[in-house]
Amino acid sequence: MERFRKDGRLVIPLMNRKKPESPKDEDKVRYVVNEAYCPKGCNIIDNEHKINNAPGLRIRFKRPGIDGEFVLSAIEGDFDKIILSGELEDGVKDDLYCPHCGVAFKILVNCCCKPDADMIVIGLTPELDFNNAITFCNVTGCANGTFVKSGDVIRHSRL
Ligand SMILES: [Zn+2]
Ligand SMILES: [Zn+2]
Repeated sequence: MERFRKDGRLVIPLMNRKKPESPKDEDKVRYVVNEAYCPKGCNIIDNEHKINNAPGLRIRFKRPGIDGEFVLSAIEGDFDKIILSGELEDGVKDDLYCPHCGVAFKILVNCCCKPDADMIVIGLTPELDFNNAITFCNVTGCANGTFVKSGDVIRHSRL
């Protein structure tokens, strides 16, 4: 497997590779996003805030009465966040915006965790391409907060 991919992701093996034993071995790699953009093309990678040694994705969040910013881990499946301002509340949905230009991130599909939950899509290229993007739920603590390649979500949601 290539370690670096053209689409801006680096493949990190989670443990030293043994001989392939089962199809599950593919689960032992995680993607790290090293490029991420708002729908208008701002780079939202925040080199000043690293989470588990990788610069995070800076995102502005709003819900009634709250306006803040957090940095999300760029590592797939890693739920760590640094909250820069405001507060996140477990089980509560936030609307997510670019911290630079304020444009709202696009919604890919609804998340099944709550009737109004959304899977937010963040492009890995300056021009948004749904097949080259990551997605996660905008409800704090939702298990679908993990990164999924959005093309996979589209396929799953059509099943
Ligand atoms: Zn922007
Ligand atoms: Zn959810």
